[in-house]
Amino acid sequence: MATIFSLIAAGQIPSYKVAEDENYYAFLDINPLAKGHTLVIPKKEVDYIFDLDDETYAGLCAFAKKVAVAIKAAIPCKRVGVAVLGMEVPHTHIHLVPLQTEGDLDFRKKKLEMTPEEFKETATKIAAQL
Ligand code: AMP
Repeated sequence: MATIFSLIAAGQIPSYKVAEDENYYAFLDINPLAKGHTLVIPKKEVDYIFDLDDETYAGLCAFAKKVAVAIKAAIPCKRVGVAVLGMEVPHTHIHLVPLQTEGDLDFRKKKLEMTPEEFKETATKIAAQL
């Protein structure tokens, strides 16, 4: 059965899309740690990031870098933090989180509540920087 992230990349489940190419897809995390919190995935369905073949892994990192640069340009922040957990969804994904402080990357903290309009506006703002 396809993962929820494969269904998102295929457009079968809606997402706030930030970027896409033939092999990778980026979209806003629905439970963001900060405004602009983005997930970057390979379209190839592999659970654990370090099980990716070298080419897909390198491509994912390069794609995530482009998205991180766009996030930094669109969202006021000191830098964009990077995390890989995968405790919830068994499909490789990189979290990109705009940071003001170290604590912004604490996954135990209460998530931000954003309206659909705010999500849409944020995704559009980031996408415009790509
Ligand atoms: P983890 O697998 O521990 O890295 O966590 C999975 C992340 O995916 C969490 O931050 C969730 O909020 C996020 N997430 C789960 N389902 C969706 C979805 N349908 N759209 C956007 N983000 C999601």
